[in-house]
Amino acid sequence: MSIADNITAVRARIGAALERSGRAGERVSLVAVTKTVPVERIREALAAGVTDLGENRLQEAAPKAEAIGPGPTWHFIGNLQRNKVRHVVRFAELIHSVDRLSLLEEIDRRAARIGKVQRVLIELNVAGEESKSGAAPEGLDRIVRAAAGLSHVRIEGLMTMAPLVSDPESVRPVFRQTAAFFDKMSKTTAPNVEMTYLSMGMTDDFEVAIEEGSNMVRIGRAIFAS
Ligand SMILES: *Cc1c(COP(=O)(O)O)cnc(C)c1O
Repeated sequence: MSIADNITAVRARIGAALERSGRAGERVSLVAVTKTVPVERIREALAAGVTDLGENRLQEAAPKAEAIGPGPTWHFIGNLQRNKVRHVVRFAELIHSVDRLSLLEEIDRRAARIGKVQRVLIELNVAGEESKSGAAPEGLDRIVRAAAGLSHVRIEGLMTMAPLVSDPESVRPVFRQTAAFFDKMSKTTAPNVEMTYLSMGMTDDFEVAIEEGSNMVRIGRAIFAS
């Protein structure tokens, strides 16, 4: 299967999952995760209609973004350290992995310096100790409230990464709980917060994530593994 064929198959599965959950015709943003994927193969995905690319390591992402040039929308989806923020705000249009207030503050500071309002998602971890990254639900309110004082960030939603398991059904509760937080927060208005994207679902679990309300999936292997 070519990359174009893989993308067609993924889109069909997204459409079927939407239909199963009574959301036929709704849009799910497809972020093609290009970690470890060489630039030539990324170009193939772009030629096949992909518009959004996700990377989880700065060292890899920055040179690729440079090589590919303008066009795609870059997402930063990996663990983010404070000392990398100033580089990430230069190329990432959406940062999915903000899980603590100190990080949001640093993003605000660095985005202000380059005259940008950085779009971010808060990474939520409802699964507790099973996965290492992500804000605990108790911390979410605090982060969202603090955004009111940070004029160079805009919180546009939530992201979660379910624990790796062999049966995707077993992580359905993680997606369901994350979606419940998303729905709750979508109903409250706060400055610099506009809950639009619920980023959940990867190659092994994206259909379950969509059935539970995801509207943005991050897919690597199903597109690029040959
Ligand atoms: C690698 C990665 C993905 C994509 O994983 P696949 O299983 O290859 O689809 C999605 N999200 C994050 C945060 C990742 O690091």
